[in-house]
Parts: sequence; C-alpha cells; structure tokens
Amino acid sequence: MTLDVPTLFLTATILSLLVGAMQAVACVRAESEALSYWAGASLCFGSGCFLVYLRDTLPLPISSLLGNGLIFFGLGLVLSGVRVFDGRPAHIPLVLAATAIGTAMLAATFAFGDQLSARIAIVSLVVALWAGVGSATLLQTEAGAPLLSRMVATVLLSSFALLHLARSIGVLSGLLSPDAAIHGRPQAIMLLLAICLAVAWGMGSLFMVLDRLASHDALTGLVNRRMTLQRARLLLEDALSKRRPLSVLMVDLDHFKSINDRFGHLVGDAVLRTFARGAREALRAGDFIGRYGGEEFCVVLPGARAEVARSIAERLRAVAERELPLVQAQEGPVTVTIGTASYDPDAHGFVDVEDLIQQADHALYEGKRLGRNRVISFSPSGEPLFEVRAARA
Ligand code: GH3
Ligand code: MG
Ligand code: MG
Repeated sequence: MTLDVPTLFLTATILSLLVGAMQAVACVRAESEALSYWAGASLCFGSGCFLVYLRDTLPLPISSLLGNGLIFFGLGLVLSGVRVFDGRPAHIPLVLAATAIGTAMLAATFAFGDQLSARIAIVSLVVALWAGVGSATLLQTEAGAPLLSRMVATVLLSSFALLHLARSIGVLSGLLSPDAAIHGRPQAIMLLLAICLAVAWGMGSLFMVLDRLASHDALTGLVNRRMTLQRARLLLEDALSKRRPLSVLMVDLDHFKSINDRFGHLVGDAVLRTFARGAREALRAGDFIGRYGGEEFCVVLPGARAEVARSIAERLRAVAERELPLVQAQEGPVTVTIGTASYDPDAHGFVDVEDLIQQADHALYEGKRLGRNRVISFSPSGEPLFEVRAARA
C-alpha cells in the first residue's frame, strides 16, 4: 500500500476543517463555550496542516513556522476548551505565550543552520506536551462524575501524545532518520493515525457536550434529577462496599412560589442560580449536589456521619439566609429548609438511595411543618422521629 505524505496532509486539512465546521454549528446550537474553543482548534489544525502541505511551494521557514505555530495554538485551544468545559478560566494568554515559545524554538533551528532533527524533535515534543496535559486535564473531574465520555477523549489525546513522544525520541536517538520522519512511511503512518485521532476527537468532543446536555440542568448548571439519582446510587454503593458513612440532604427553598409571584420568574431563576452557586462553593470537593426538582436540591456527603451532615446542612442554610435576600435587593427573607438522613455502617445493614432520600424528605416536611428555615434530621430509632437542630422562625 502506498501512503503518500502530501495527500495525507491534504486529507488532514479537509477533515479538520469539516470537523471544525461541525463543532462550530454544534457550538451555536448547544450554546457551549467549550465547543467554540474546540471548533477554533480544529480550524487551526486544518489551516496548519494546509500550510505544511504547501511546504514545497511556500518558503520553508514560513510554512513550517506558521503551519506548526497554528497546530501548537490549536492544541492549546483544545486544552482551554477542556478547562472552560469544567468551569475554569481558559488562560488564552498562557496558550499564546506557549505557542510563541514553541514557534521561537522552531525559528531558532532555522537561524542556526537548517537543523532538521532538532525541528522535528521540537514539533513532536510540543505536540506531545500539549496533548499530554490536555488528557490529564480531562481526567480531573468532580467526584463521582461519569467518566465514560471523557475517557474516550482522554485515550485519544494521550495516544496522540505518546505517538509524538515516540517520534521525537526516535529522531533524537537516531533510530528514526529525519527524512523518514518527514517524508517516509513512519510519517505517513503517524499522519494516518493523527487523522483518525483528530476525527475521533471531534466526535468525542461532541459526545462530551451531548452528555453534559443530557445530564445537567441548564438554569443552575447542576446535575439534573436523573443523573442525581445515578450519582447518589454510585456514591452509596461505594460507601456500602467500604463500610463508610454517608449522608443525604434534601434542601427546599421556602415559600418560593411567593417569590415568583411577587418578583417574577426571572428573579426566582436568579435566586435558584445564586443558591446553587453558593451551596456548591460551601461544600467540600468530594461532596455532590444536584437539582432534584424545581426548587429542591439533593446533596450527598460521602464519609459524613449524622452530626457532620447536620453541621454542613446548617452551613447551607446559613448560605441561603445570607446570600438569597441580596438577589435583586428584594425585600423579605428567602430561606431553605433541610432534611438530613444518614447511613451509619455501625448501625445499619443495607440501605438504598431511595430509602435515604425518602427519610431526608420526611425530615424536610417535618421542618416545613415546624415553621421552615431549619435543619431537621431523620432519626431512625425510636421517638421522637425528628430532632430539631437549628430552629429559627
Ligand atoms: P414551601 O415553603 O412549602 O416549599 O413552599 P413553596 O412555595 O416553595 O413550594 P411550592 O411547591 O408551592 O412551589 C414551588 C414553586 O417553585 C412553584 C414553581 O413555580 C417554582 N419553580 C419551580 N421551578 C422553577 C424554576 O426553574 N424557576 C422559577 N423561577 N421557579 C420555579
Ligand atoms: Mg418543593
Ligand atoms: Mg419550596
């Protein structure tokens, strides 16, 4: 089989541009900021590959510096997209700085005589570094989050990184001749694999966004009810197998209907968003919060016994009391009532998630009956069924 390097560069160009266009359309439809970075990345790969394809036509330093510079920048954009996807800053100045350093190193190989091996090694190492950091970033996600869609993308990006690492080691050690690394069969095979990876990454990125849309609530950005139950079940299974305690909190905003009635639904939405953000910030890294229903939230606290759960619930109650009245400077208190239920490995055998949610719900409704703005714990043994932790009228 003949694998022609220029044809493969042209194929990479066309496919990357097509993937980029697909990501750009999906970015508008799904309103996903991350996809705009990934679309930009694919367009950079496409144009970068086209410039490298033109290396026999254009002056070499231009096609090499501009082409590879675009590919470096594209990889940086992949990383920025992953960060944005996770709600972190994109760090574009850092990406630009890293691209400038990589490109300057390439320029140096031309300045000090045309050092082909050094140039191939630099390109491969920069690509490997970006793709490696990108795949490591993909693996850092919140506790208990499903990793399947990210795993596909991680495997693809890390194979891309390994491939380039092998290429640079091959050239630096002399096992791979610079000519073979640029024009020969090894380069053709690498390009073929890179094309497959680029297309698969395009699909992986769309799958990640689709997965996010299907599992998250657009208003608060928290996990939706279906996924909340799945995550809670997974976290409880883990606690049961390790015989570690776990607590569930059911949180409900008080008299929320009257907030909508008095101030309108937009203010109601802002209150929900503010509470979701404040609660997320008040929880520990391994804790989980999902939007269970309209103005109801479910919190799962792995490792937390009943007393710890009560103190965390009290913290969330205080967050609501402190932050919600500030939304649109509305008058009157906006509070939450919280019911807690706990799995204690020393006291219980098997429990399932539905049991714990029902118990926490039961405590929550008792809290509503007792006057709201309070934390009530479900007490599994004996009477009284509930103990009042913090009662404020
Ligand atoms: P209680 O203290 O007993 O919980 O009273 P409540 O008014 O909070 O409870 P109720 O169940 O009567 O009303 C819940 C309200 O939450 C009704 C619904 O319009 C509102 N709601 C549910 N989802 C949303 C949403 O996404 N945005 C807004 N603005 N309101 C919502
Ligand atoms: Mg409710
Ligand atoms: Mg309510």
